[in-house]
Amino acid sequence: MNPLLNLTDFPAFNQILPEHIEPAISQILSDNRQLIKQLEQLKTPTFENFVQVLEDLEDRLGVAWWIVSHLHNVADNDELRAAYNACLPLISAYHSENGQNSILFKHYQTLKDSKLYLSFNQTKRQIIDNELKEFHLSGVDLSDDKKTHFKAIKNELSQLGAKFEQNVLDATHAWHKHIVEESLLDGLPDSTKSFAKQTAKEQGLEGWILTLDMPCYLSAMNYIKNQSLREEIYRAFVSRASELNDPTFDNSEVMLQIITLRQQKANLLNYKNYAEYSLVKKMAEFPEKVIEFLLDLAKRAKPFAERELHELQGFAKTEYGIAELNAWDIPYYSERLKEYRYAVSQEILRPYFPLPKVLQGLFQIIEKLFVVQIQKIEHDHLWHNSVEFYKILNKNNEILGYFYLDLYVRKGKRGGAWMGGFRPRKVRKQHLQYPASFIACNFPQPMGETPSLLTHQEVTTLFHEFGHALHHLLTEIEEPAVAGIRGVAWDAVELPSQLLENWAWEKEALDLFAEHYQTGEKLPEELFQKMQAAKHFQIGLFMLRQIEFALFDFRLHFEFNDQTNIQALLDDVRKQVTVIFPPDFNRFQYSFTHIFSGGYSAGYYSYKWAEVLSADAFSMFEEKGIFDRETGLKFREHILAKGGSESPMVLFKNFRGREPNIDALLRHCGMK
Ligand SMILES: [Zn+2]
Repeated sequence: MNPLLNLTDFPAFNQILPEHIEPAISQILSDNRQLIKQLEQLKTPTFENFVQVLEDLEDRLGVAWWIVSHLHNVADNDELRAAYNACLPLISAYHSENGQNSILFKHYQTLKDSKLYLSFNQTKRQIIDNELKEFHLSGVDLSDDKKTHFKAIKNELSQLGAKFEQNVLDATHAWHKHIVEESLLDGLPDSTKSFAKQTAKEQGLEGWILTLDMPCYLSAMNYIKNQSLREEIYRAFVSRASELNDPTFDNSEVMLQIITLRQQKANLLNYKNYAEYSLVKKMAEFPEKVIEFLLDLAKRAKPFAERELHELQGFAKTEYGIAELNAWDIPYYSERLKEYRYAVSQEILRPYFPLPKVLQGLFQIIEKLFVVQIQKIEHDHLWHNSVEFYKILNKNNEILGYFYLDLYVRKGKRGGAWMGGFRPRKVRKQHLQYPASFIACNFPQPMGETPSLLTHQEVTTLFHEFGHALHHLLTEIEEPAVAGIRGVAWDAVELPSQLLENWAWEKEALDLFAEHYQTGEKLPEELFQKMQAAKHFQIGLFMLRQIEFALFDFRLHFEFNDQTNIQALLDDVRKQVTVIFPPDFNRFQYSFTHIFSGGYSAGYYSYKWAEVLSADAFSMFEEKGIFDRETGLKFREHILAKGGSESPMVLFKNFRGREPNIDALLRHCGMK
């Protein structure tokens, strides 16, 4: 029996094997195609006999495919990757076919024009409006030969996106540095050192192995005293998947093809460029508005960044006699300056953030704020033995949803942190499908008796991902197409996640979980004060870096033509906004998975855009009290519960009582 064809509410992940994948996906696609033929015959389409039936079959495919993609993200191996890659063209062809199916399109149009539409609630109307938009964006209006061309582009793009990401993963793992002389590691924190020791041991080697996995890379850049070792690691990291390294993983061509095809896709639909196409489903109305928003922020942040850089240069010179700072020196001396000025560092804080305790505290905060309960469930069939499974319930024990936690760094797992909303909430006559989500991070693994100890930055990341998860799990929408994070405009999707980060900075919240893993001592007030004082440390530089990424992404998708040189465009963006210019061998864009293989193309600005919303939303908690139940419930009711069922501006106004403004963001960043 193929487990992907017999999915229960609690899938047995460890029983899903690579050989199940292609047959299951092919089967579902063929079942769906048959049902769609029947739907085409409908004389009078209604919401129940048409939209819901179509949604149900999309949902079946979606859930199965989410599981496969998830396994590809967290437990990659050659067989799984081959099966995953083999399915990409099948799925892409299927979606293109449906997106261009003019009979289905007509059914939706009939519904929209009928009297029925007027009787529909907001959720149903939103679905129909979204779908009609989606049909146009999928090329339903094109002539037959253009339709075929459009389909081919989409198919190629889905494979190129996967290729880009796989190259980054492989290039990251292809590099390591074996160290035998301990003195080279001077400065490196014990936690990273023991991790490096363990990595070496696993490979049957003495000494230490440094890798380009995020926790190891960041720690090395911040702490290793030896400048040439730092330089070597930096060079390896910033040239991953580029022409400067192993040609097998070179993303040069992949990147160029992706951008070219995206522009062609947009042009086929009569959009001037991909940026314009991408904004159709976003909150921002037109490209110039996004660019203006980013440049305005850059202008505000630049004086701060210039001053910060100047201070850093002065510090490195006076205290260490370093006349010129290289790219691989900046994180190192920044960390020293931070320690010098605030006597605080990520490493000093780490012992106060043992992961199990942080989780417990985070759950308490969520329970207080949104009046829910979180309980662990035993589950023997997960994809790795370190994965945990939970349910989230209302106060009256009514189940709301489920989530999986996969928190540790591991081979075959994609870097970074993310939330996947794999099963949406859905209500049908006899059955309620509970929403479920995956939360994945890359935290250090526990070592023997020592639990995983997080930096405060990692704590913030965990809060962030939980914000996304709550958006998905606390939804009250019954139709999967707009339940949870489904159908939420991309530039509004970071509102709940960035909002929740704020609690990782509040004393009242930290007191619930920040305590020393050996002594049980609470985070001392003095250390907390230092942490607060250091909160805005190099905020201008940080903000400019985000703007640099966002503006590069946006201009690339706005201005691209066959003359465009990607590197030259990036250099130009840097001239426009940044104060730190990386060395010419920096090939950051070659591993910019957010925009080349994730969903952030012409959308990286969303982080900053949504931060205006999240900062403004948090200011309401600041006014009423950070654990004010009424405000928490209001946020749950107006934002978390509503998913994509209404425009984000309307939802925000319902919560805040007015339109968002940028004041709170500037105040939180110390820029006002
Ligand atoms: Zn996020």
